[in-house]
Amino acid sequence: MVDLTNMGLFLFDIDGVFLEGKNEPRLLSGRRIVAALRRRRVPFRLVTNTSTHSPEHIAETLGRLGVEVRADQIHSAVETTVAVAARRFPAGRCFAVAEPPVCALLEAAGLQVVPDAPADVVVVALCRNADYQMLSAAARCVRQGAALLACHRNRLWLDEKGYALSAGPWVAALEYATQAQAEIFGKPVAAFYDEARRPFGVAAASTLMIGDDVAADVRGAQEAGLVAGLVLTGKTRRDELDRLSAQPDLILEQVDDLADLLG
Ligand SMILES: [Mg+2]
Repeated sequence: MVDLTNMGLFLFDIDGVFLEGKNEPRLLSGRRIVAALRRRRVPFRLVTNTSTHSPEHIAETLGRLGVEVRADQIHSAVETTVAVAARRFPAGRCFAVAEPPVCALLEAAGLQVVPDAPADVVVVALCRNADYQMLSAAARCVRQGAALLACHRNRLWLDEKGYALSAGPWVAALEYATQAQAEIFGKPVAAFYDEARRPFGVAAASTLMIGDDVAADVRGAQEAGLVAGLVLTGKTRRDELDRLSAQPDLILEQVDDLADLLG
């Protein structure tokens, strides 16, 4: 059993923990735990591979549903990916396999989002309007020397209908086609967790990560030295617990149950 009194920082995944669905998200749980952490002044952060919306947009959505978080309490894989792309290729040409909000962030960071090759860098995020032409153009850029950066390589996410393709299949398609290796910035990469923890100065072993994805949230966090809890409101079902590839340190029906454990 995890000793929660030792935990100095709480990190939470968003999709499958707080929210379900992208276009009109529904609240799964989270009002009580966020209120409890705020009341106790325990630092927490929401960490997400979500690559379709900005932290401001996510904070606003959560706020509307009664979960009070500030945009700077949300750490996203997109921010890190955009920052690295802009730092390495200042004012460079960027081909984006991404939706308009991510393209806007790339442009705001000084990159020039271009419609075809050549490019200095290709950035891949979840892109629900990706098609043959877009992926072929991305492959052309990479074959001509562009760096391949990706927010994450998640296989699936849950939309209103159930499982849907995430960004990983596009990353895999581009790697396969070009024989290049993408650089990944989101969960489960350990550097993502280090980055999320950095402003707080709390040791990895005193940080609890809660998520619904065994590979990205539980195994990823444990490999980065964190303590990891699994919620059953998202990707992982109770009947799958025996065959999990990583064993969570804590299992919760829903994230608000953590408020009861805090006492
Ligand atoms: Mg999730």
